[in-house]
Amino acid sequence: MQKLIQGIHQFQEENFRPLQGLFEQLATGQTPETLFITCSDSRIDPNLLTRSRPGDLFILRNAGNIVPPHGAANGGEAATIEFAVAGLGVKDVIICGHSHCGAMKGLMQPEQVASLPAVAAWLGHAETTRRIVKDNYAHLDGDRLVTATVEENVLVQLENLRTLPAVASRLVRGDLRLHGWVYKLETGEVFAYDPTVGQFVRVAEYHYPRGEAAVRRRTDATI
Ligand SMILES: [Zn+2]
Repeated sequence: MQKLIQGIHQFQEENFRPLQGLFEQLATGQTPETLFITCSDSRIDPNLLTRSRPGDLFILRNAGNIVPPHGAANGGEAATIEFAVAGLGVKDVIICGHSHCGAMKGLMQPEQVASLPAVAAWLGHAETTRRIVKDNYAHLDGDRLVTATVEENVLVQLENLRTLPAVASRLVRGDLRLHGWVYKLETGEVFAYDPTVGQFVRVAEYHYPRGEAAVRRRTDATI
């Protein structure tokens, strides 16, 4: 904890002052262009990995970067996404999974979360991921299986995202883009789902999608 207190002092001295104008401007309101949905995992820093500044990203985090579909029990996720999409008018939504995700390991090995009933129930929103992986990835194991699960979960959660009325409406209007990313934390690389090839590719090789991407991918761990 002492480290954090010291960090606040350093932030005020070294980081806040050079950006004081920006922070004062942000005090009058925010106009982020992107909703960034990712895992709560401590090893991900959305602002650092995208080199973005305060005010750029509206961020939603939870275990497993999960988006409960429309009609699921009332939770903060639907409200947060609705606010970003219909209230703030973000132009892009990114769902960003990550390598070595503990939530995805728990999803595929339910015994690991047997003593965590709230976690087990939460992972129920990723049951489609579990089923897709179980039925289609029997040839993979170890890290490759975890990676395939992470990738499939990003696609499943993108599908859940499309069921939310505010998102569906913007997609019909054609002014909202959805992106599926996977952050490989051991290399710092970011991969994006490219619907034109049905695979996750390095973000530099990514064909920027217009609107939604519905093409299913081949059953392999691609990163
Ligand atoms: Zn995770």
